[in-house]
Amino acid sequence: MKKKKKILIGDPQTELLDAIVITQEAKKYEITVCKTGPAVMHTIREFKPDLLVIDLMMPHIHGIEILKTIKNNPQTASTGVIITSFYVMIQNYHSAIEKGADYFLSKPFEVSELFRLIDLYFQEALNPSDFKLNNTHEVDSDHCYHPIPSTLTSYLRFWGTRGSNPVSGAEYIRFGGNTSCLEVRHNHDLVIIDAGTGIRRLGDIIDLEDHQTIHLFISHTHWDHITGFPFFGPLYKKNCNIIIWAPVGFEKSTKELFIGMLAYAYFPVRLDEMKASVTFKELRDHSPVSIGNLIIDAHFTNHPGPTVGFKIKTPTKTVAYITDNEVLLGYHGHPNKIHLKHPLLQSHKGLIQFLKECDLIIHEAQYFPEEYARKTGWGHSSIPNATVLIKYSGCKRWIVTHHDPNHKDRDLEIKTQLHEDIIKECKLDIQVEIAYDGLITPL
Ligand SMILES: [Zn+2]
Ligand SMILES: [Zn+2]
Repeated sequence: MKKKKKILIGDPQTELLDAIVITQEAKKYEITVCKTGPAVMHTIREFKPDLLVIDLMMPHIHGIEILKTIKNNPQTASTGVIITSFYVMIQNYHSAIEKGADYFLSKPFEVSELFRLIDLYFQEALNPSDFKLNNTHEVDSDHCYHPIPSTLTSYLRFWGTRGSNPVSGAEYIRFGGNTSCLEVRHNHDLVIIDAGTGIRRLGDIIDLEDHQTIHLFISHTHWDHITGFPFFGPLYKKNCNIIIWAPVGFEKSTKELFIGMLAYAYFPVRLDEMKASVTFKELRDHSPVSIGNLIIDAHFTNHPGPTVGFKIKTPTKTVAYITDNEVLLGYHGHPNKIHLKHPLLQSHKGLIQFLKECDLIIHEAQYFPEEYARKTGWGHSSIPNATVLIKYSGCKRWIVTHHDPNHKDRDLEIKTQLHEDIIKECKLDIQVEIAYDGLITPL
């Protein structure tokens, strides 16, 4: 009688091993099972299998390590190897096949399917390229975070209104926890400002048929404004052009900073491996950029590093978006005491001029007065100080964004009241609103 072929099966799942050994097909072979990596290594030497079927994540020794050891040893190099795994990722498949595996089998599988493949292996008819990724889900492109009325074609939508760090949890439900990202739509024109964590959801709903070129403006490269970038879906679409506009860097260019952020140590896809074409352009002060019917201008703000605020002009409206700006550095007094000639106001005169004739200003006011006393010089404004800037700009409508991660829903409700109280006390005619993730306002 012909000698039975020997198979060693390594898998941490006892039920699977039991199911394999009791089947009728198993009787054709001499089978031994192991549940850990060290047991597999030990048994290979004793049992000398013709074929090894091992799970990718064997306890204590990774399946790829076992594969490498077998293939590097001349005495075991001819042993066949089928890798099995629930972790069906193209990178895992590639590393298994490149290191000499004969097949990569996705879990869960039917035991009969395993034996069909084993039979094929011994008939020398097993083809590793039969592998199929079984976990490719189509993104539901109709999914929309907050539905837009079909009549509304020009609007601003806030995808992230948090500063510094994203937050989540029951205490942040009303205002949300994603960091800075604003969608600007004017009929057919689209502009995105900042790539905080909010940009991930936005990426899912952009119709790339309509927008083959996407303009992304970055106020500055602090984490809260760029950390969502690697998760922006259009980066992974062919025929998509992404143009990144950012201020000129002090030490490194924005492109160098993005390449650094996308090193393999931090993220599995490098900038030069993304399917979209990504171009970097420098924003220089007082040089507006035209995109369709939109004109985008930038102005430096008082914040560590090269940071800008933006002004977006449509044919009928002007809106400013300034997320990081410390107004009246070190001032803790009453807003009414800051007159036009006050020395602390002088450094903001350029920005005040820039903000003239805005229909809406989106500007931070990250700190309560008592917090600002502790956080002076951190690059963010107190509520009263930011009010002074809005007052001198002459704008009648203010949306507050870039909320402190420490501010829970309850704090932001108190903050709303404080904003209204200060405006009333200063006898100003300003309508104020606190932004939240998903807020849409017509443009
Ligand atoms: Zn920020
Ligand atoms: Zn910042």
